[in-house]
Amino acid sequence: MSIPLLDLKQQYAAIQAELLPRLEELCASQQFILGPKVQELEEKVAQVCGGAFACGVSSGSDALQIALMAEGIGPGDEVITSPYTFFATAGAVCRYGATPVFVDIDPVTYNLDVGQIEGKITDRTRAIIPVHLYGQTAEMGGVLAVARRHGLPVIEDACQAIGAEWQGKRVASLGDYGCLSFFPSKNLGCFGDGGMVICNDPAKAEKLKILRNHGMAPQYHHHLIGSNFRLDALQALVLLTKLPYLDQWTQARQENARDYDRLLQGVEGVETPKTASYATRHVFNQYVIRIKGGRRDSVWQGLKERGIGSAVYYPIPLHLQECFRSLGYREGDFPESERAAKETLALPIFPELTLAQKEEVAQAIRELLA
Ligand SMILES: *Cc1c(COP(=O)(O)O)cnc(C)c1O
Repeated sequence: MSIPLLDLKQQYAAIQAELLPRLEELCASQQFILGPKVQELEEKVAQVCGGAFACGVSSGSDALQIALMAEGIGPGDEVITSPYTFFATAGAVCRYGATPVFVDIDPVTYNLDVGQIEGKITDRTRAIIPVHLYGQTAEMGGVLAVARRHGLPVIEDACQAIGAEWQGKRVASLGDYGCLSFFPSKNLGCFGDGGMVICNDPAKAEKLKILRNHGMAPQYHHHLIGSNFRLDALQALVLLTKLPYLDQWTQARQENARDYDRLLQGVEGVETPKTASYATRHVFNQYVIRIKGGRRDSVWQGLKERGIGSAVYYPIPLHLQECFRSLGYREGDFPESERAAKETLALPIFPELTLAQKEEVAQAIRELLA
């Protein structure tokens, strides 16, 4: 029996009866741009993240983009972030001409090695973007301390980590801005693209809302240059329907992680993921193992041949991407990111996964490494 990396059809089947009448109602109204559903979602997601304000936007990439715009970051400015993340984290920095400055990761959490941040700060540094990769928080104590010392804003890339906690506090509201993605594969996914920025400062929140709608306030009066970063009412409705289930889906992911930890215990050549003590709520957007001895690719291939989905996030760290060649980085600059790119493999962890399926995945890995 084949096991996909992600099966969204089961989740849809569980909410279909609730969702479809609401969608019909919205279609009957023909009110698709922003409106009360987007506002309701903003209030509820702000609450889930322990933040004061939220601004619904068109994607997680645009959430990062608009936070950088709100800080006025552009040409000549540097932004410190991780080279081991989805492209959008650094792509957003470049979009209006700023430069990403990379700091290597901690090999246990795959998040910024906070001890290396201060050494990268120059008089052009304008922000720090920690990423909470795979659903585990970065060491925010260290990030916030360095940021405070240098008066830098912190933009959390919480796209994979809605509901995750650092020292008992929810991510996305720990820094100045928290960016969320509602891409379908995230823990809370919509039916297409969507995102949100969480923010505690009322003036910053107001600026985000103006920027998201062409810098317009009031209508046809433009004091700022923004663009169209709006979240659709249709997506907000899908997300409002799913939100009450987020906690139970997260718990199912955590249970899957515990089962895999047990099932993969003692398998030679496999390292199961570790949760740092400060990461008090890991939400497991991904369950990522390391496969030692140069055997990652053969296990990946072997699983595929058995009909088991797995994925490599991310095979090429950002400092080695073709489009960033002009930044002047070389192989060897960030050894932990490069090693993670060669050794890691993400296994199916979606909430509806059955114990039999987890056992089959673990058994297949055992056999492939025997
Ligand atoms: C998904 C993701 C993004 C981008 O979100 P989109 O909604 O796909 O634009 C940014 N950063 C990280 C770490 C992500 O996982």
